Amino acid sequence: MTASIINGKEVSQELRASMTAEVQQLSEQGVVPGLAVVLVGEDPASQVYVRNKEKACHDLGFYSEVHRLHASTSQADLLALVDKLNKQESINGILVQLPLPGHIEEKAVIDAIAVEKDVDGFHPVNVGNLVIGDDSLLPCTPAGVIELIKRTGIEMSGKHAVVIGRSNIVGKPVSLLLQRENATVTMCHSRTANMKEITRQADILVVAIGRANFVDAEYVKPGAVVIDVGMNRLDNGKLAGDVDFESVKEVSGPITPVPGGVGPMTITMLMQNTLIAAKRAHGLA
Ligand code: NAP
Repeated sequence: MTASIINGKEVSQELRASMTAEVQQLSEQGVVPGLAVVLVGEDPASQVYVRNKEKACHDLGFYSEVHRLHASTSQADLLALVDKLNKQESINGILVQLPLPGHIEEKAVIDAIAVEKDVDGFHPVNVGNLVIGDDSLLPCTPAGVIELIKRTGIEMSGKHAVVIGRSNIVGKPVSLLLQRENATVTMCHSRTANMKEITRQADILVVAIGRANFVDAEYVKPGAVVIDVGMNRLDNGKLAGDVDFESVKEVSGPITPVPGGVGPMTITMLMQNTLIAAKRAHGLA
């Protein structure tokens, strides 16, 4: 049996179409969502991500600013820019592209972003609100994962969800969001013993480990939903997920491909957060 493919590109386009309509309505009330992206240095992958974010803003009718800073920019200068953007009314969302050069402490920069403009959802206050179940700006990739599972039409409530990976930006928030959907969640990581025995019990399996094609069909219960967050660049230049798509799709239920699964959702959820932040700033949310 070959599984159905969860098309992240298509879901992303649908979400962007409804956002475009909303942005148009808002602009009639004089509200234009604004996103500032800050890039320090010339990391090639980061440059691509930043260009994609700039393009998404343009396509959706957002106001956008990109601040490209030299790799030697001091932490104090970066913090001064964040402070200026925190106060700037035309900006509703601030994203400082990670990773930052080694001489800058990432935590100090994330902590300096105004909570209500933290569209990456990495500020400790937003993370804390996520933990206690209060309103918060959700981290983009985990929010995208949940949206894709919802699109399968498969109910999460009461299901056993297993997440492989416990990073702050993917594994941990995905687990919290799955719990919020009333799934029973098990987290696995590099020290987990007998991992296959655990993952084979999963109705929903989310994989975020950063190892190309690591999860094969032996890890997967027949019919399980499989969400592959992994993005690994192979020696031949191609992109591979953490899941061995070809073997797993023969046993799984709905499954995301790489590319074209979780990847396209991340920027879309960033745009959604910026839209939410703009509405909140104008008392419209
Ligand atoms: P990370 O910070 O390196 O964390 C990896 C996690 O995987 C850790 O918790 C680690 O366990 C666990 N792990 C590593 N090897 C393992 C193994 N053999 N068995 C079980 N667990 C293992 O990575 P990340 O930032 O979460 O990213 C994970 C992947 O998602 C990467 O490929 C990344 O490129 C991708 N990603 C994609 C998007 C997107 O937009 N699609 C966004 C973010 C990340 P320990 O904690 O025990 O070390």
